[in-house]
Amino acid sequence: MNSCRWMKRVEACFDGAPADPAVERHTAACPVCAAHLEALRRMRAGVAAVAVRESVTDAQFPAFMRGIREGIERPERHHTGFWAVLSLTAAALIVAVATFAVFSGGTAPVRATEVESMSTDLQGAKVDTYRSEEGVTTVWITMSKDDVE
Ligand SMILES: [Zn+2]
Repeated sequence: MNSCRWMKRVEACFDGAPADPAVERHTAACPVCAAHLEALRRMRAGVAAVAVRESVTDAQFPAFMRGIREGIERPERHHTGFWAVLSLTAAALIVAVATFAVFSGGTAPVRATEVESMSTDLQGAKVDTYRSEEGVTTVWITMSKDDVE
């Protein structure tokens, strides 16, 4: 990948640092930084699409639970399969959030990894978040096994 010593400053501007005319002039003249900025924009758009898909709305929930149930009911598996599937889901969420944190790194705060609110109308479901010092936010959806079946 091509590199340019201005790339860090370009990233800082992309992350919401105060507009810097010198960086804007450089980006207009430097194909490496122009391409880098375009890649950052595409990345942010892609992450936004993933973030929407990762949240399980009530409309999506039947399919989500069907996937879990199929995991449980596979003959060679016993009931620990349920928790294995939930762990995989949690791992996928962690990976998505962590990836975003890495790509939008720099000196500006990474606001997108902060969960501002969450709620569910599902009976018996509980949603929790935990924000680590590294800035990785983990979201848990907890349901008792009785509510799944
Ligand atoms: Zn450059």
